[in-house]
Amino acid sequence: VRTYATPTPEREKVAKFKGQKESDGKYCVTLIEGDGIGPEISQSVKDIFSAANAPIKWESVDVTPQLIDGKTSIPDAAIKSVHKNYVALKGPLATPIGKGHVSLNLTLRRTFNLFANVRPCKSIQGYKTPYDNVDTVLIRENTEGEYSGIEHVVVDGVVQSIKLITREASERVLRYAFQYAQDVNRLKVRAVHKATIMKMSDGLFLRVANRVAKDFPQVEYDAELLDNTCLKIVTDPTPYNDKVLVMPNLYGDILSDMCAGLIGGLGLTPSANIGDECSIFEAVHGSAPDIAGKGLANPTALLLSSIMMLQHMGLTEHADKIQNAIFKTLAQGTTITGDLGGKAKTHEYAAAVISNL
Ligand code: NAD
Repeated sequence: VRTYATPTPEREKVAKFKGQKESDGKYCVTLIEGDGIGPEISQSVKDIFSAANAPIKWESVDVTPQLIDGKTSIPDAAIKSVHKNYVALKGPLATPIGKGHVSLNLTLRRTFNLFANVRPCKSIQGYKTPYDNVDTVLIRENTEGEYSGIEHVVVDGVVQSIKLITREASERVLRYAFQYAQDVNRLKVRAVHKATIMKMSDGLFLRVANRVAKDFPQVEYDAELLDNTCLKIVTDPTPYNDKVLVMPNLYGDILSDMCAGLIGGLGLTPSANIGDECSIFEAVHGSAPDIAGKGLANPTALLLSSIMMLQHMGLTEHADKIQNAIFKTLAQGTTITGDLGGKAKTHEYAAAVISNL
């Protein structure tokens, strides 16, 4: 089982998902460096890929939002690049809180219909945390739920946010989760929900899960209430090590940060946004404005996201080579960044990974 595996949504489309091989034998991948620490951690990925001779050519694009008719949109050149290359690596993008334009992250997910967000979380050997055996995989519905952005003022002092759940989006992410379970040989799927309270919305998600499960008889299936999952996973994460957890959008957002806490924080957790047309790989963390520009950021989460990307593209040899060098560097513990208790600058850590290639 490859922890950072990201199988494609439909097997017959595999060739397309691998990206476009160019005449020089390299694959062109769109790179969105992002805000805050984004450019610093992207530089580490570029340096390490180049030292590892990974056959990737980066096509950097600017995603500074454009407001067209009051709606946030992504510049055309960026959209064309992702559509052309099928695969993108993305740094964090800052979102203004409670005002201004809609989150660019949401806009990207919607623009490319990236319906499944895969978030693996695995203990790092040599880095001490209360548990040293965490190995969770969480798949989050990525297009609707509380993230639908449908909010309005009812009367002064009363607002309403709509949690939108559709059968179509639920079925799409659930099918992906079961297929994923089968493809990576992690043969237990658990739907996480709160249908006791959200009887209609989570109730629909759960009913679809129960039905989709019947199409995958080789995969064991059950369901669990979100609060119960939270309690159990921080008490003992071991029973979750053989499961794929699948859930509506907001639950996945929060639960995955909790899992990140179990293995040592946001500097270590990657993710994949999977769509039918293209996929975007990004760290779980944000732009970390408190440490931006200081050379202190840990690039591991973006690096592991790029490992997920390489595996998705079928470039497993390069994925394994870079992944082993990262794990070796972290296990040595001598050149690690401040979030992990070390003193290394971002570029010093990247140099240590390169020396371990
Ligand atoms: P954050 O993830 O940026 O930072 C939380 C804490 O973790 C900070 O103390 C930060 O220094 C630390 N941290 C995060 N990544 C780190 C790394 N690689 N190395 C070392 N330390 C790291 O969360 P936030 O402060 O709540 O959000 C900042 C901005 O990022 C906001 O505008 C938010 O909307 C945005 N954001 C973007 C994404 C995304 O692009 N997918 C995800 C989450 C947040």
